[in-house]
Amino acid sequence: MSAAEELKAIEAEVAACTACKLHLSRKLVVPGAGSPQADIVFIGEAPGFHENEQGVPFVGAAGRFLDELLASIELQREDVFICNVVKCRPPGNRDPEPAEMEACSGFLNRQLACIHPTVIVTLGRFSMSRYFPRAKISGIHGQAKVIGGRMIVPMYHPAAALHQPSLRRTIEEDFLQLPAYIQQGKQMEIQASGPEDAPEQLSLF
Ligand code: URA
Repeated sequence: MSAAEELKAIEAEVAACTACKLHLSRKLVVPGAGSPQADIVFIGEAPGFHENEQGVPFVGAAGRFLDELLASIELQREDVFICNVVKCRPPGNRDPEPAEMEACSGFLNRQLACIHPTVIVTLGRFSMSRYFPRAKISGIHGQAKVIGGRMIVPMYHPAAALHQPSLRRTIEEDFLQLPAYIQQGKQMEIQASGPEDAPEQLSLF
């Protein structure tokens, strides 16, 4: 199966999923969108109102800022893959619960395995905690780490800049580092024959 076919198959499973209570209140599932060959996967938190209506991730105000950030590094949505930790909207935009994230984690793991991106960018604390369980975003944002052979870059959620305008500049600056991280990640992929050969956790700083 090609990566595109595998992603389609995952989408169909997400659409039929009843593994947690979020399926009861969702309008549309939001499995994720973008290129099966993406060098970068962005992982947000959860669909909000507009995403639940349209079935597409990051289409509200935070999504418009994300589009601007992508444009700043000469990328469009079609060049990357954008998804969330949970694929259905938590009612009232509450935080996703641990059981909901756990129920959805298999889908996200499979998406990452078939896209096999050079860089994973976590947007906000829920996706960050998959890789940096005890970290604070203020201490590590924008700093790449190689975990299990893959480069992970934690970033503030774009919505944070909407609530706290002083963060806008920080997020913009963190984004500008991504092209260099992709280059470094590609170099790392050439040097290592597989993730088994990479050190478990290597700071690039
Ligand atoms: N915020 C997210 O984390 N994901 C979305 O899809 C939209 C807003």
